[in-house]
Amino acid sequence: MQALLFNNKTKELTFKEDQPLPKIELGNEVLIKVAYAGVCGTDLHITEGQFMVQEHFPVILGHEFSGEVVEIGKDVKTLKIGDKVVVDPNRGCGVCKHCQSGHPNYCAPGYEANTIGIYKHGGWANYCVAPVEQVIKAPPGIELEQAALAEPLSCISHAYDLIQPLGDRILIQGGGIIGILWMCVLHSKGFRNVTVTEACESRLRIAEHLNLGFRVIHADRLKCEVEGGCEFFDAVIDCSGNVSAIELGLTIVQRGGKFCMFGVSPPGATVSLKPYIIFQREIRVYGIRVNPYSVPKAVDIIESLGKKYLTLEHLGVRVYKLSNYNSTHVFNDISHDLMPLGSSHLRKNQKFTKVIS
Ligand SMILES: [Zn+2]
Ligand SMILES: [Zn+2]
Repeated sequence: MQALLFNNKTKELTFKEDQPLPKIELGNEVLIKVAYAGVCGTDLHITEGQFMVQEHFPVILGHEFSGEVVEIGKDVKTLKIGDKVVVDPNRGCGVCKHCQSGHPNYCAPGYEANTIGIYKHGGWANYCVAPVEQVIKAPPGIELEQAALAEPLSCISHAYDLIQPLGDRILIQGGGIIGILWMCVLHSKGFRNVTVTEACESRLRIAEHLNLGFRVIHADRLKCEVEGGCEFFDAVIDCSGNVSAIELGLTIVQRGGKFCMFGVSPPGATVSLKPYIIFQREIRVYGIRVNPYSVPKAVDIIESLGKKYLTLEHLGVRVYKLSNYNSTHVFNDISHDLMPLGSSHLRKNQKFTKVIS
């Protein structure tokens, strides 16, 4: 089969035409023919050597994907061949204190060794094997291209539940695909007083073209408004992971407001903040770690958002064949754009999804 493997020792991404087909080895496993797989910011950080990844063998990346069941292990009772599915790439060890307390996303041995598409072979290939516990059936009304958004939406769903109540006046920092999906979710839930900031012009256009009635502005403009004494927000959701955006966002949280660190900063990044502001305004800061038990909710969200919100064109997502991974847009441009300041704000493009036909 075709696959895209990442070698952490050489930091090389290699396209292979003759990767052996993965085999079902355990009774609980499912073989999935991958339809669409997302290229996430995490993948870009991995290929740039900033994030952890399997280091003992070249691994097939891709942790956001949808597909169709083509073979099931002997113990699988809940899925059948032909089912449309999405995969939850994350799984706790099941036996540590955190897993047994209902917080598998705090599990170090599980999440830091098992993640499909980071530590185990993932979806940047024609086929992938996953345990049935991590395979979620998608209703027939959902297209597989929308279903590939289930993993990022599951993280948003987890964050949304965690930071309730949000208040009325919301700021989303970062208009990449995650900011765009936050916009769709908030709009569908009735939020109207939402400001979105983004530093990259092409991303700004995509956010504007969603036509949700939200205020979409350049990140520099927000900076000027803050200097001029702007109004504060009930909740700031940072989707950029960018240090200066986080520093700015923390200064404009309302009294009793919330700051949600949704974007992932590189592990060594540091921010400076005035602790007095956190004290004086009793600001609550939320870290969001992936998607405990929220993929089924994300599938429901996809179904309810439907094509009103979630067409790839509308979202600014482009589709590539796996073999075109090295085309000017998918990795080269993005990696290149990332390099000058190491700022995710500089990424010119939206998230990319590839087709495997
Ligand atoms: Zn991701
Ligand atoms: Zn555990």
